[in-house]
Amino acid sequence: MQEELQSQLDKTPIVKQAKNIIFFLGDGTSISTLTAARLAKGHLTGNHEHEVMAYEKFPYSTLIKTYSSDKVVTDSAASATAYLNGVKANQATIGVDANVLLYDCDAMNVPKYHTKSILTDFQEAGKSTGIVTVTRVTHASPAGTFAHTAERHWENDDDVNDDDYDSEKCDDIAEQLVLGDTGSKIKVILGGGRQKFTPKGVVDPEGGDGGKRDDGKNLIETWLNHKQELGNATYTWNRDQFLTVDTANTDYLLGLFDWGHMGWAIDKEPSNPTLQEMAKAAIEILQRDDNGYFLFVEGGNIDLAHHKNEYRSAIEEALEFEKAISYAASVTDPEETLIIVTADHSQPLVINGYQERGADVLDLGDYSNVDGMPFTALLYTQGPGYRGEVNGERPDPSLEDYTNPHYAGAAAVPLTSSNHAGEDVILYARGPHSHLFTGIHENAFIPHALRYASCTGHGLQFCTQQEQP
Ligand SMILES: [Zn+2]
Repeated sequence: MQEELQSQLDKTPIVKQAKNIIFFLGDGTSISTLTAARLAKGHLTGNHEHEVMAYEKFPYSTLIKTYSSDKVVTDSAASATAYLNGVKANQATIGVDANVLLYDCDAMNVPKYHTKSILTDFQEAGKSTGIVTVTRVTHASPAGTFAHTAERHWENDDDVNDDDYDSEKCDDIAEQLVLGDTGSKIKVILGGGRQKFTPKGVVDPEGGDGGKRDDGKNLIETWLNHKQELGNATYTWNRDQFLTVDTANTDYLLGLFDWGHMGWAIDKEPSNPTLQEMAKAAIEILQRDDNGYFLFVEGGNIDLAHHKNEYRSAIEEALEFEKAISYAASVTDPEETLIIVTADHSQPLVINGYQERGADVLDLGDYSNVDGMPFTALLYTQGPGYRGEVNGERPDPSLEDYTNPHYAGAAAVPLTSSNHAGEDVILYARGPHSHLFTGIHENAFIPHALRYASCTGHGLQFCTQQEQP
């Protein structure tokens, strides 16, 4: 504890311009998820409760308030608009301010309602940008870096048409990624979601269902043709190909590793690279820009596993997320690269009971003094894990397959998919101006601080502030 005190006393802010920013976003990564992931990792390493996660070594942290313009508990779209653009938005809208209501196709095309992301700010400052996720690259969180839409689910034109809106007028998210002002300038795009980029009738390379676009556009081919005119460009759809990419000679990289979201980390799909492998390739390509870069990396399946109440899978995804952060921290210089790690919202996971020290948080946790039966240490307040009572009794988890990686933890209230939870999330920061992240802040504060630190975009900037007497 004396050592810990000394390191607090030694802490000094890095008051420099942030040349690079890496933004790690754990979707649905509540503080309970982070604690459970630490305990699960500690159980494997033998460090138990003393385990220290990569982001816990970062010098600064703050709580983040996540409510949206219209809801106390946010969705990932409104949240992405806030933490990437600096403006609170309505639920399920992306890259537009609160003047744009859900489904308002006309309003979403009004330029003055468009918000600008920190990724766009980096592009306008002449720096390189990239996005990495394990979900579809058109999903709400990554879309917050480049898209403007009144409906997060309008990921391709078929989605717009299915809602009876005009897909010529309301551009879908995949089209905005390949042809839009910001999307078309992103140099590295890695994740899942091939179906949103290819037309109906195009066979998917992994079998399964094919392309889903109605407009006949093959946006993967379009992307490759455009980028090959600008430099060395590669498209890849499986891990073996991806690992052979020569990042030292690649200017543009598009990797779409799955028809839909990428597979669960716990299932280890051979065609899917890990989040760490994708983050590594992205950093290697982007760091060749002497002007600097902005990289968004999302652990997107943490949220999706929580929605199914599959806590073992969610924790596995959180551990993969930490590996990517650990890698990024090890290959970047805190004097020039600002790294932040945060979440868009919570999920209703709770750590329960009085487990003995050194116990496995993924195991049975404690016993009820009412029905005498055990309960798992991890439980959900709502979601598909609801079981109800059988013959007037709570089902006994010790009689269930609770070590199955896809076991759904018990939930108190039934829902087909868990609803997000509304308490604050945490943000960890390391690097130039990471000391701006202490106390408690709105999610929309985050990009304002990032712009200040990196001297990009509008508002107060460290570089100009420095010039004043
Ligand atoms: Zn969610």
